[in-house]
Amino acid sequence: MDLSWIINHLGEERDRYFDAVIPPIVQSAIFAHPDIATMRARLADEFNAHVYTRGQNPTVEIVAKKLAALEGAERALMFGSGAAAVAAGMLANVRAGDEVLCVEKPYFWTGQLVRKLLAQCGVRGVFVDAREAADVEAAITPATRLIVLESPNSLTFEQQELSAIAHIAKARGIVTLIDNSYATPLGQSPIAHGIDLVAHSATKYLNGHSDVLAGALCGSEVMMRKVFDGPYMTLGAILSPFDAWLLLRGLRTLPVRLERIAATTTMVLAHLARHQRVRRVYAPVTAHTTQPDLTASQIHHANGLFSIELDVPDIAAIDRFCNALKRFLMAASWGGFESLVFPIAGVRDWGSLSAAAGVPVNLIRFSIGLEAPEVLIADLERGFAAI
Ligand SMILES: *Cc1c(COP(=O)(O)O)cnc(C)c1O
Repeated sequence: MDLSWIINHLGEERDRYFDAVIPPIVQSAIFAHPDIATMRARLADEFNAHVYTRGQNPTVEIVAKKLAALEGAERALMFGSGAAAVAAGMLANVRAGDEVLCVEKPYFWTGQLVRKLLAQCGVRGVFVDAREAADVEAAITPATRLIVLESPNSLTFEQQELSAIAHIAKARGIVTLIDNSYATPLGQSPIAHGIDLVAHSATKYLNGHSDVLAGALCGSEVMMRKVFDGPYMTLGAILSPFDAWLLLRGLRTLPVRLERIAATTTMVLAHLARHQRVRRVYAPVTAHTTQPDLTASQIHHANGLFSIELDVPDIAAIDRFCNALKRFLMAASWGGFESLVFPIAGVRDWGSLSAAAGVPVNLIRFSIGLEAPEVLIADLERGFAAI
């Protein structure tokens, strides 16, 4: 299956809906059955049947089939947000008394899930510097049931050795889950490295238009059925048919958006790396990572998310830099058509949690969008001039 076939055709059964090129939004909460035997059969296997839209829905399934294929997974389930996908993947695999090993500096709400919600359920969370697989191995105890990875994370972009960690985990019957939102399935294939579950915030690059919140979880038939019968159906954090339809629209252009974003980012990074006000660039690209071998072996497509440490006397100078930008919008999130800037200094508890994890307070994260590179570079110069 080639990429454009998956994106343009997989899962689309046009002869079932008037040969329309674009699938309908099946905006129906329920499905009726032709006879009692069929109804019973479908209710007995909701994972594979249309019964109730909290389970399966034809519009949502089209996106799920494509994402499963892109990740090389047997199945995928869609969620109303990336946070819901990560939570479902974790909750399906732990119970009271278990331990979860989680990378240091995960996405903020993944960290909160481990620190707060899992703790409430009697699950112990342990955060580990996972740059070396040996350190992950050393942190495993007999109670460890799940290892949660983010390679790279979305602030300082540390990576993990996926094959080595998957191997260590498999030998001990431990489930591995990775948040693959940064790389997207086009940039990194965790399942090929032996990782069990791949989660996405589809809100970011997969949708790419900052108009939908969505999540996905991909894995084997057995794993995904466990998720479906557990947190998926009980928590009901589903993607609506309309949002699935919008996500499908965004997904159509993922390869060209990423290509353009990568080209622009390369130019912007080259400019920043030479700038006297930039102390350090954090990005999972060979020129700027401390783990170039991992980047080369795991990431085949760099994207537009990176951070810099500004060389400034105080936080007020960061404020002046950000306030001077006219083309970068100031916003959390990333992965859309529009370029964004996000300074971590003083932002609610991200600041203190990040400081505890060793993230410098003068860190500013950028998400590069689809604007012309010279427009963005000129805007950055406006920021530097205001420092
Ligand atoms: C945004 C994000 C999430 C959460 O996704 P939502 O769709 O906002 O719920 C999870 N992981 C990473 C790395 C993210 O950037």
